[in-house]
Amino acid sequence: MALDRNAVPNDLNAFWMPFTANRQFKKAPRMFVAAEGMHYTTADGRQVLDGTAGLWCCNAGHKRPRIVEAIQKQAAELDYAPAFQMGHPKAFELANRIIDIAPKGIEHVFYTNSGSESVETALKLAIAYHRARGEGTRTRLIGRERGYHGVNFGGISVGGIVNNRKFFGTLLAGVDHLPHTHLPENAFTKGQPEHGAHLADDLERIIALHGPETVAAVIVEPMAGSTGVLLPPKGYLEKLRAITKKHGILLIFDEVITGFGRLGSAFAAQHYDVLPDMMTTAKGLTNGVIPMGAVLTTAEVHDAFMQGPEHMIELFHGYTYSGNPIAAACGIATLETYREEGLFERAAELAPYWQEAIHSLKGLPHVIDIRNEGLIGAVELQPIAGEPTKRAFQAFLDCYDKGVLIRTTGDIIAMSPPLIIEKEHIDQLIGTLGDVLRKLA
Ligand code: PMP
Repeated sequence: MALDRNAVPNDLNAFWMPFTANRQFKKAPRMFVAAEGMHYTTADGRQVLDGTAGLWCCNAGHKRPRIVEAIQKQAAELDYAPAFQMGHPKAFELANRIIDIAPKGIEHVFYTNSGSESVETALKLAIAYHRARGEGTRTRLIGRERGYHGVNFGGISVGGIVNNRKFFGTLLAGVDHLPHTHLPENAFTKGQPEHGAHLADDLERIIALHGPETVAAVIVEPMAGSTGVLLPPKGYLEKLRAITKKHGILLIFDEVITGFGRLGSAFAAQHYDVLPDMMTTAKGLTNGVIPMGAVLTTAEVHDAFMQGPEHMIELFHGYTYSGNPIAAACGIATLETYREEGLFERAAELAPYWQEAIHSLKGLPHVIDIRNEGLIGAVELQPIAGEPTKRAFQAFLDCYDKGVLIRTTGDIIAMSPPLIIEKEHIDQLIGTLGDVLRKLA
C-alpha cells in the first residue's frame, strides 16, 4: 500500500533524526501514525506488532485510557510549576509510589527527564556524596565495556560503545572500564549464564591501580540491554556489590531498561537480589509517554547531603522539567496501570513461554546465540565479513514488511514487547522472525 500523503509530510529534510541513517531513511520512510495496545499503525494503513515496547519503554502497551486521561486532566489543571524552590503534590505522590515498589533500602527519588540525564545525575551525586562526607579525593568512575548509559558526556565516558564515543573528543577524565560479560561459552544459555562471575574480580585490580580512596562509583546495567541483552553471569552482581562495599565505593545500577517490570520484578535489583546505592531509571516510569527519568537512592546517599556541610544541603543540580506535573501525573497513572493489571507478575508468568519461543530459533541460518530473561530476548547473527550489521538490519526491514517491529544493535536482534503481550503475539513475533531468518541471505 502507498504511503498516505496526508499523513507523511512532503519535506522530510528539516528533521535531523537521532541514531538513524537519515539519507537512507528519507528515501523510504517508515512512519507510524497511531498506536493502540500491542500495535502501531503505519502511514500506509498497516498494523505492526510492537515487539520492542517502542524503545523498551511502553511496558503497558499503547494508548492506555488511564494514562491518556491523567495527562489531559493534569494539563487542564496545573500545566507547569517551577521545579526549584516550589513543589506540587503529584511529584511527591509519584516519588512515594516509586519507593513503594522499589527494593527495601531505596528511599529517595531525584527527577530527571531521560535515562541520559538520570545517569549524569547519578554520577554527579556519587562524587558529591563522597565530598559531603569529607572524602573529596573520590572522583574516579568505573563503567564497563559494552555498557550503554545514554549519550551525554558522563554517560558515554563510563559507557563502553566505541561508536558512541569516538567522534566526541577526550570525554571525562578518570574513568576505567570493567570487561564486558559476553562469553562464548555461555552461548544459547536460557536465562542467567553460568560462566563469568570471575570477571567482577577485575574491579579489585582497577581499584588497586588507583587506590580505593580515589574511586567514587561503579556503574553497570544489571542486564545490558542496548548492546544486545547481555545477562549478568550467576554470582557476578553479588561480587561487584561485595567489592564496592569493601572499598567504600558506591554501586549504581542503570535500570533504564530493566526498571518497571521488564524482568518480572519491579526492578532488576529485586530480580537478582542485589541492592545498589543508586538506581537510574526512565522509560517505563511513564510508559514512554511523557519524557521523565528518576534517580533512586538509599537513605545513606541522601542523608550524606542532608546531614553534611550546610552549603551542600541545597544540591546545585536539577532541571527545569524535574518532576514536571504532566509527567508526574503520567507516571502515577502508569504505575497504577502496572499495579492494577499485575503486569510485573504477568511478565514473570509469561517468561517461560517467551524463553521456549525464542530458543526455538536455535539452528536457523546465521543464528550464533540466543539470550533471554523476563520478557526480553536477543538473537545474535553471524556478521557478514566486512559488512557488520547488514544482516540483522535486513532482518529488521523484512520483519517490518511482514508486520512486526524488532530492534537491532550491530548483528544482534533484540526484542522486549509490552508486558500486556498475549501468547498468540509471541507466536506471531517469533514465527515471523523465524520466517525472515530462513530466507535471509
Ligand atoms: N541507560 C540505559 C541502560 C539505557 O538503555 C538507555 C536508553 N536505551 C539510557 C541510559 C538513555 O536513556 P535516554 O535515551 O532516555 O536518554
